[in-house]
Amino acid sequence: MQGLMQDWQLTCDRVITHAKINHPDREIISRQVSGAITRTTYGEVYDRARLLSSALVKRGIKLGDRVGTMAWNNARHLEVWYGLLGIAAIYHTLNPRLFPQQLKYIANHAGDRMIFTDLTFVPTLEAVQDDLTSVETFVIMCDRDEMPKTRLRNAICYEDLIAEGDGDVRWGDFDENTACGLCYTSGTTGNPKGVLYSHRSNMLMGMTAAMGGAMNVTGSDVCLMVVPMFHANAWALAFTAPMVGMKMVMPGPFMDGKSIYELLEGEKCTFSAAVPTVWLMLLNYLEENKKKLPHLDRVLIGGSACPRAIMETFDKDYGVQVIHAWGMTETSPLGTVSHIEPEIADLPYEEQLSYRLKQGKPPLIVEMKIVDDDGNDLPRDGVVSGVLKVRGPAISKAYFGGEGGEILDAGGWFDTGDVASIDPLGFMQITDRSKDVIKSGGEWISSIDLENAAMDHPSAAECAVIGLPHPKWDERPLLIVVLKAGKKAKAKDFTKFLIGKIAKWWMPDDVVFVDELPHGPTGKVSKLELREQFKGYKLPTA
Ligand code: ADP
Repeated sequence: MQGLMQDWQLTCDRVITHAKINHPDREIISRQVSGAITRTTYGEVYDRARLLSSALVKRGIKLGDRVGTMAWNNARHLEVWYGLLGIAAIYHTLNPRLFPQQLKYIANHAGDRMIFTDLTFVPTLEAVQDDLTSVETFVIMCDRDEMPKTRLRNAICYEDLIAEGDGDVRWGDFDENTACGLCYTSGTTGNPKGVLYSHRSNMLMGMTAAMGGAMNVTGSDVCLMVVPMFHANAWALAFTAPMVGMKMVMPGPFMDGKSIYELLEGEKCTFSAAVPTVWLMLLNYLEENKKKLPHLDRVLIGGSACPRAIMETFDKDYGVQVIHAWGMTETSPLGTVSHIEPEIADLPYEEQLSYRLKQGKPPLIVEMKIVDDDGNDLPRDGVVSGVLKVRGPAISKAYFGGEGGEILDAGGWFDTGDVASIDPLGFMQITDRSKDVIKSGGEWISSIDLENAAMDHPSAAECAVIGLPHPKWDERPLLIVVLKAGKKAKAKDFTKFLIGKIAKWWMPDDVVFVDELPHGPTGKVSKLELREQFKGYKLPTA
């Protein structure tokens, strides 16, 4: 027997329509490329997204077409997403930090028909446009008086394109499994692979992210959306925020400590989400300038492991709760969230912190398990670690264009490429990416744990650990440190500091100091590049 409920397809155009009807005057604040701050509302974003949709239809954009965006977080970028998905065209976020070669590969592989770009990236696109075979038109997301002289093919000012529209367009009215957005993983191995979100997966993830056990947001929150829209589906915030009607603050290209602080304070933000690097810059700025954060209530940290120092400093010095989350492009992206649940609520601070620093528990729509190399399920004892696999309605079942072939096992599980343990309370902890794990004497050393322990050293600004070849042990850890400005330290200071904080045999065989670490396109330390840099490096123990 079938239920007698209505057929109401979960298509994402409904999100901005809902915001238009129920939260029309709630603001969206953008820092533009020029540095100027502009304000709009959900009501206006809806109206302009519809104008854009109708203009796109007139220009022949239709269901299933891919359209690239190379843009910062700003209200226009949001309008473009909704303008596209309303007519079942597909927003394809291009990460501007990619190398030109990768950028060309991705845009061609996706078959982007148009590219919307912020002023910042006009030169980047001019340099590669001859190799972008499918792109017919470039749209520059700026005011008319900012329109640059450009060689970009059929370049048009965003405002002129909007003016071509009349808003008379049909939105929605297609199957909820229709493709909605496309985001390529950074492709640390092989070519980047396209993750193709559906309307249904975005709706489910948007709602999931809002839940109490996840970001825990409502219309009373003000969200500083630092995580770029080109990073892993903007961590669902482009859907979650209008769903609950929270005011959105978009930092544009300015993610340094001072700029982030100004927006947090100026707009009285209560919630924010970003990778650890951003928070490190903010915390340094706050410390140096003796500032406080009276409005900020909680921050979501993900993308790479949250260092203990960040969580503790937010807790103790600023009264801001850190929510640690794990996810990946393929998981839409929220996979797990670490919350203070009743079982850990009354634990002494240090003990509680050890749980909060784990990656946490999955929401309803994510199933999770760890397996050994032969695919056998491993126990949830918090000790054994294995390959982390996930399953759910907002998790990839294949890559765009069939790239990479079959990616699920016989049970429908997706291999995350992460190595993790799960404790008896259900908290998952990432010990490493399978390709970063250090194999020493047949045992595994977690580079993440080592990095976190080293990051607690008061002079450390950023740390990374990689495995280097060793004649006896196969691989041994090398600790690479960037010191805080004005600080001095020797290798011995770090090894001494680590005694008692890590297993004895995990002790790095050497510590080197560098001015900066290489970062990948999503702001994470690039281990690939580090391994390349230290290729011939000989450990003193080798
Ligand atoms: P990429 O970094 O390859 O572009 P993603 O942005 O999708 O791809 O990153 C996903 C990966 O980032 C995860 O598989 C995991 O290794 C890492 N990651 C994400 N969040 C966390 C976290 N909270 N702790 C540790 N690792 C994390």
